[in-house]
Amino acid sequence: MPVMKILKNFPVKKFRRALLAWYQREKRVMPWRNTKDPYKIWVSEIMLQQTQVKTVIPYYKKWIAAFPDVRALASAPPGKVLKCWEGLGYYRRAGMLHRAAKSVVKDLDCKIPARAALLKELPGIGRYTAGAIASIAFDEKVPVVDGNVVRILTRLFALRQSIELSAAISALWDLAGALLEERAPGDFNQAMMELGATVCSPQNPECGRCPARTFCKAHRLKREMFFPVRTRKENYESVTMHALVLSLPDGRVLLQRQLAGYWWTGLWTFPFFNSFREMAGICGEKGVRPLGKLCHSVTRYRIELRVWTKNSSRKNLLHVAGSRWVPLKNLKKTALPAPHRKIANLLLEARK
Ligand code: SF4
Repeated sequence: MPVMKILKNFPVKKFRRALLAWYQREKRVMPWRNTKDPYKIWVSEIMLQQTQVKTVIPYYKKWIAAFPDVRALASAPPGKVLKCWEGLGYYRRAGMLHRAAKSVVKDLDCKIPARAALLKELPGIGRYTAGAIASIAFDEKVPVVDGNVVRILTRLFALRQSIELSAAISALWDLAGALLEERAPGDFNQAMMELGATVCSPQNPECGRCPARTFCKAHRLKREMFFPVRTRKENYESVTMHALVLSLPDGRVLLQRQLAGYWWTGLWTFPFFNSFREMAGICGEKGVRPLGKLCHSVTRYRIELRVWTKNSSRKNLLHVAGSRWVPLKNLKKTALPAPHRKIANLLLEARK
């Protein structure tokens, strides 16, 4: 449906005033909210993708302490960057941020672009992140549309088109642009995201305390939970992996660095295999004991990680590419993905 038609008779100015007044009253305190520094806003926006605010805050503080500006990040070794990101998941984001920082330093004389159109040319910055940085740090009049904004807009106007259609998402960008308060685009965009994160939640919208309730069509119809409309079901893929903790008598364990294009690129893991048979084919079945089972979700994958252990007396028992024997005490400072960190913690606990 054309934006003009959706907005017909909608009190745009009143809606903006109500939303911004609510935001000034209710916004949560976050370390990146009291700055206009585009680098800090950029880091926060990348960390916040698929991750909740309360999880991000300690990572953000640690990151800014380690890499206070784009130049510091650009000159950091990849291992240090990944270590600082460890536990946040979606490690590709850290690699892209690192690459983009190098590009800003090398090609743009350390100046982060002020326009969304230019920001989008940097690795890892899509339309949403570009809009967030440009509007918050530089007051550019550009909207943002993330999952929160999609939910609010589809409820506010009771939009029945499936959000799986690219035409629907494109219309939502136009709609967000038409609603944008041009005198305070950064605050308006943050207010929309804040409302979606704290009030207009997916399962339990708190309409009673929502500043948009008098404008909200889904609320008027008592059909809040019917929006946004989705026609496709999420397809999850189950994956079983077998991880091997191979130990030497001196306590060292074998870790393997993951290559590009596979799971957890650049991080260290215990060697893992698609099947027990594949694992036994390399290390032999004799002496292999079960250590436990872990479940982990990443993007659309539901991973069941079966963990095995085996004592080894021969250093070259395994010919695993990119592998290295690591003393247990060094596991803490090695960048491991979440499920392998859990294995490491189990081993460190057992040693106490
Ligand atoms: S009134 Fe309810 S459904 Fe409508 S925007 Fe507010 S919280 Fe969401």
